[in-house]
Amino acid sequence: MKIRVYQLAKELGVPSKQLVEELKKLGVDIVSYQSTVDEETADLLRELLKAEPSKAAENGKESKVESTEEETVTAEAGKSEKELAPKRPPVVTVMGHVDHGKTTLLDAIRRTRVAEREVGGITQSIGASVVNYKGQKIVFIDTPGHEAFTEMRARGAMVTDIVVLVVAADEGVMPQTIEALNHAKAAGVAIIVALNKMDRPGANPDRVMNQLAAMGLIPESWGGDTIYVPVSAIKGEGIEDLLEAIILIADLLDLRGDPEAPLKAYVIESRLDKGKGPLATVVVREGTLRVGDFVVVGTTYGKIRAMFDDKGDPISSAGPSMPAEIMGIQDVPEAGTLVQRVDSLEEAERIAKSNLDLQRDKQQKTRKEFSLEEILSSSEEEKPVLNLILKADTAGSLEAVQNALLKLEKGEVDMNIIHAGVGAISDGDVILAEASKALIVGFNVRPVGKTNKLIEEKGIKVLTYRIIYDLVDDMANLLKGLVKPKEVEVVLGHAEVRRTFKVPRVGTVAGCYVTDGKIVRNGRVRVLRNGVIVAETSIGSLKRFKDDVREVVQGFECGVGLENFHDIKEGDILEVYTIQEEVA
Ligand code: GDP
Repeated sequence: MKIRVYQLAKELGVPSKQLVEELKKLGVDIVSYQSTVDEETADLLRELLKAEPSKAAENGKESKVESTEEETVTAEAGKSEKELAPKRPPVVTVMGHVDHGKTTLLDAIRRTRVAEREVGGITQSIGASVVNYKGQKIVFIDTPGHEAFTEMRARGAMVTDIVVLVVAADEGVMPQTIEALNHAKAAGVAIIVALNKMDRPGANPDRVMNQLAAMGLIPESWGGDTIYVPVSAIKGEGIEDLLEAIILIADLLDLRGDPEAPLKAYVIESRLDKGKGPLATVVVREGTLRVGDFVVVGTTYGKIRAMFDDKGDPISSAGPSMPAEIMGIQDVPEAGTLVQRVDSLEEAERIAKSNLDLQRDKQQKTRKEFSLEEILSSSEEEKPVLNLILKADTAGSLEAVQNALLKLEKGEVDMNIIHAGVGAISDGDVILAEASKALIVGFNVRPVGKTNKLIEEKGIKVLTYRIIYDLVDDMANLLKGLVKPKEVEVVLGHAEVRRTFKVPRVGTVAGCYVTDGKIVRNGRVRVLRNGVIVAETSIGSLKRFKDDVREVVQGFECGVGLENFHDIKEGDILEVYTIQEEVA
């Protein structure tokens, strides 16, 4: 008999999240809290969690071995009354590929509220909305895109309990569907699939289910544990079914939040209003936020002068899961910032100032790269896990790399590919790598433009390869626990090709502009076209006007001739680098 994770968690009296972590230690990868585990694993967990006295005590069971059964039951019943925090509404984020209907779906969901309030229209004024469905509240966060979702997670601000993955039933799974799914999986939240655009003649829900089942989301109707809800956001059809599904999952997750606990709330959005000053939309996780509270919001602070709900109406307090826009803070905070209550304005100011000092300190120390050791030293796990984000130039090469990696023997280290996609290494990959402590591996692709800066800022480790054998070899060494690649490359600079000239006997010369760093003669160079490596060679000639020069720095133009490569095009990026021996 199989049992769902949240049911087992309930039975054992531990949070579902903890159970998922325990399962991971046992090598069982759980997609969502609805996932099932077999009887054997369940028994193992029962044993494990009972064996630990602290957990057993938390659990309330087994601590009174000598008591009569009746007493134990009373003790348990008493606990659920007293110790368990009250239920809280689920916080839902809608994600999916662009144009698959996220905005339209959120609008349709909000319209259900209009009917309830029997008013002519609603103005949604903050980045979240509360929907009342059959007497139960559901909080929807305005879709920020999966990058922002993961950015929040990277900062420790997980407010989402459930992700609704929207897939247009006529188009099926698209690159951003996969990205969104992987971001949601990495966050360990429950996932519900909304099959949208069911009104379209080309709608083919079975195909979508097949595609997503291959990625671990097996539909309930096929014996799996993922709920798929067919909807038409534009016609408002299936919306109630979706809300039902959310309520069901929320019940199963048994979400709780103590309104009396110390305040823990997170900023999800902020803005500067001409009249009201800095405003921040926050979602409360625990405790209650009230007008008049003194709060520290990261590096800023203030006394809450007024609060507004999602309809823009003034409110005096907000409890667990509830969103509110707060007025009275000194500055506009970043999304993901923690909001905490303190006793006085002076204390708030003092803490905010010290937070600011801390931040400055951090910025001054140029951030160290996540070392491979750091990536591998996942604290409590018995076996370190190498989390990988794989990017390749084509679907074919991606598959080849994946297959080769899956065949690798696991040694000291386990491998977990948390995302694999086609295309240049993007900001989204970097943010996911940061949040999941992952290594980014590029095959025939590189990061482009501002992503390079982000990689540096966040200190993410990126390894890129041109030869599959090298890639696999390095990964094999990593899995054996040999963490040092032998050579490291240092990128010197980039130049953009603005024009090309054919020069007799020399070939093609590129008129370039150095966008960052410097270009050096005889330097190794990679030619990038939309982030894909089209050639790797070295710089044969480097000229400023008519003169040969040794190097050209940022902000200057130059003429570049490449060794053995003449198919250079306008818009190509030249990435110049050197190879250094890694100091062990
Ligand atoms: P988003 O980018 O995911 O937020 O997508 P939008 O909500 O902006 O929708 C993209 C387009 O698809 C818009 O033109 C919508 O009108 C259309 N659309 C959304 N939902 C449906 C639906 O259920 N049926 C049909 N036929 N079109 C839809």
